[in-house]
Amino acid sequence: MKILDGKIVRDEILARLKKEFAKLAEVTKLAIIQVGARTDSNTYVRQKKIFAEKVGVVIEHLKFPENCLPAEIIEKINVLNADESIHGIILQLPLPVGFNTDEIFEVINPNKDVDGLTAKNLSRLSAGDLDGLIPATAKGILKILDYYKIPIVGKRATVIGRSRLVGKPAALALEARGAKVTVGHRQTENLAAIAKEADILVSAAGQKNLVGKDFVSPGQTIIDVGNDVDLAAVKDIAGALTPTPGGVGPMTVACLFENLLKARIINR
Ligand code: ADP
Repeated sequence: MKILDGKIVRDEILARLKKEFAKLAEVTKLAIIQVGARTDSNTYVRQKKIFAEKVGVVIEHLKFPENCLPAEIIEKINVLNADESIHGIILQLPLPVGFNTDEIFEVINPNKDVDGLTAKNLSRLSAGDLDGLIPATAKGILKILDYYKIPIVGKRATVIGRSRLVGKPAALALEARGAKVTVGHRQTENLAAIAKEADILVSAAGQKNLVGKDFVSPGQTIIDVGNDVDLAAVKDIAGALTPTPGGVGPMTVACLFENLLKARIINR
């Protein structure tokens, strides 16, 4: 089984982005709004800061306490929308319980929505248009497949998970590239059989060891987004696998910054 190393691809993207950002007359600025201090969110924000520093992007990290009011977040987003020196806005998810994520997200100017999660950007993706700001994980999946020359067009892809952040955009992106996509989720019957028939299996369920030998077929490519794969069970069957860590994670961060560069071009 071939291991699809996301770090190699990330480093290539990093080198290219560093040059592109350096060419711009004005420094690129990315605002990250974080509400509360979840450990996983802290880690993701830190990874973005490390990448930003390497490519010469300035991050404005705006922290709000968990008990702040949604109206304060909305007000801040409006300020950032109007601020021409800010090129991208990230609202770090998940928001604390009680926050209406959809409502708050929609306040973000779609042209600064580097996560690609506003309705406008998602609907562009669902129409099959891959040239807009598309969610970074979905973009990262396409890029790692392309880098390792794994064909997508005409192939069967199964995506396990249908979240707004990962599963759904991944399914839409693969479909836009010409795959025949099936989506499975918690309620899906015969999930193993549906997974098994795929040429490309994307797993974004967040369930350790969900993907065992019943899910996998010889030569299959597995994109393990959710750290779902039982490695010992699949390693002698599958053709290729993205490891965790070191697979989709680094690709996601890199693709976020690709979106930031794109946002700069859109907003010029
Ligand atoms: P993320 O944002 O990382 O994708 P979520 O927790 O929002 O994570 O979504 C998890 C997705 O995975 C949901 O669509 C859910 O239906 C799916 N899922 C969770 N557990 C299973 C399971 N055991 N089998 C199939 N799908 C699952």
